[in-house]
Amino acid sequence: MSTIDTQLTVHDAVARVLRDVRVLGEEELPLLSAYGRVLACDIVSPVTLPPWDNSAMDGYAVHAADLTMLPVALPVLETVRAGGTATQPLPRGHAIRIMTGAPVPAGADTVVRVEDTDGGVDRVEVRRDRDAGKNVRPRGEDIHAGQLVLPAGTTIGAAQMGVLASVGAADVIVHRVPRVAILTSGDELVELDRFQDVRDGKRIVSSNSVTLQALVRAAGGEPHYLGIAADDPESLRTHLRRAVGFDLLITSAGVSVGEHDFLRSVLGELGAELKFWRVRMRPGAPMVFGMLGEMPWLGLPGNPVSTMVTFELFARPAIRKMRGHSRLFRRPVPVTMEEPVHAGADLTHFQRAILTTRDGQRTARLTGRQSSGILTSMSLANALVIVPAGRGNVAAGETLHALPFDGDAELAEQFAL
Ligand code: AMP
Ligand code: MG
Repeated sequence: MSTIDTQLTVHDAVARVLRDVRVLGEEELPLLSAYGRVLACDIVSPVTLPPWDNSAMDGYAVHAADLTMLPVALPVLETVRAGGTATQPLPRGHAIRIMTGAPVPAGADTVVRVEDTDGGVDRVEVRRDRDAGKNVRPRGEDIHAGQLVLPAGTTIGAAQMGVLASVGAADVIVHRVPRVAILTSGDELVELDRFQDVRDGKRIVSSNSVTLQALVRAAGGEPHYLGIAADDPESLRTHLRRAVGFDLLITSAGVSVGEHDFLRSVLGELGAELKFWRVRMRPGAPMVFGMLGEMPWLGLPGNPVSTMVTFELFARPAIRKMRGHSRLFRRPVPVTMEEPVHAGADLTHFQRAILTTRDGQRTARLTGRQSSGILTSMSLANALVIVPAGRGNVAAGETLHALPFDGDAELAEQFAL
């Protein structure tokens, strides 16, 4: 065991974690399974798109020079549908009926929309010239053969999937999803299926087992739940042996200074290198980070709110880094406090808050009491308000920064444009 940092700032602790977390290797997936993944290779198009000059309108391909005197009647030589081609170039003084996406016949420089004509089949009367020289989408206006269309590191959303399909990428090479082992610990805990013990007043449900699996999934990881270890070294050892081979280990509880907090010593025994313990934050101070061989280990404190807040700050960026994302962090946004905030001056505080956006102005109020055992206050929050160390008490009307969660903070009940 080398030196262990203690009392790091949140900023330094996050940097410390990310320094040891590696981007995962690659796998090949069918395109439709790759949604949300990060490209591990550059994508170069083998084709030019669109492959031909094509019509932007349903209408008539003509020469703009034939529209100088209106209305004008032109014989219609044929009809080209999308998927078809004209059998001939377009001579002066003629029209070819054409549908959107169909190749524009050689010679034509204009497609007159059907609404500006009488819609004739053998002969068409053109009534307006606003489309003169328009509505021809040139070959290659989107993509040229040999063009880098999506660089490695791109997150694959719906638009990127469309581009990949367009350039023939039926299978794509992406970064793997981290397989995240989750272990909770505590003699007071039971799984949900033993709720009778809770009714009997003997135990509490291990809510962290559930929130952590959801948080891992929401961050883009694959949760693998290892169960609840008892507060004894042997049970911890047995459970932790099952964590071999995962990309990340997240444990909850057992990292404070209680006499049953064995997790650090057991992991040390199993060869883990402890990197830091304790961060200058509230909630979440007893947080641990170590490496078990190649596998990073985040030891989150057991209080349900501490677990969630430390996950947000440390585990989520780590999972995103493993997935190959370059943007790892939520972006802090300025908020005007609707109420005063009281925080100790020596630690960075993360308080559960409800953020409201009205006319571009963000305000925040707290979800109530901020004890790290009050999980319902987390369930009401859509953001964490940050009270920096040294700030202490904050008056209503003052500005702080908040980390909005994914979800409803920026959504509206009414469609408004
Ligand atoms: P510890 O970190 O073991 O000292 O636990 C701190 C507090 O968090 C205690 O009140 C525990 O009962 C509670 N706690 C620990 N683990 C869990 C869990 N998995 N689910 C819900 N509460 C927990
Ligand atoms: Mg405990």
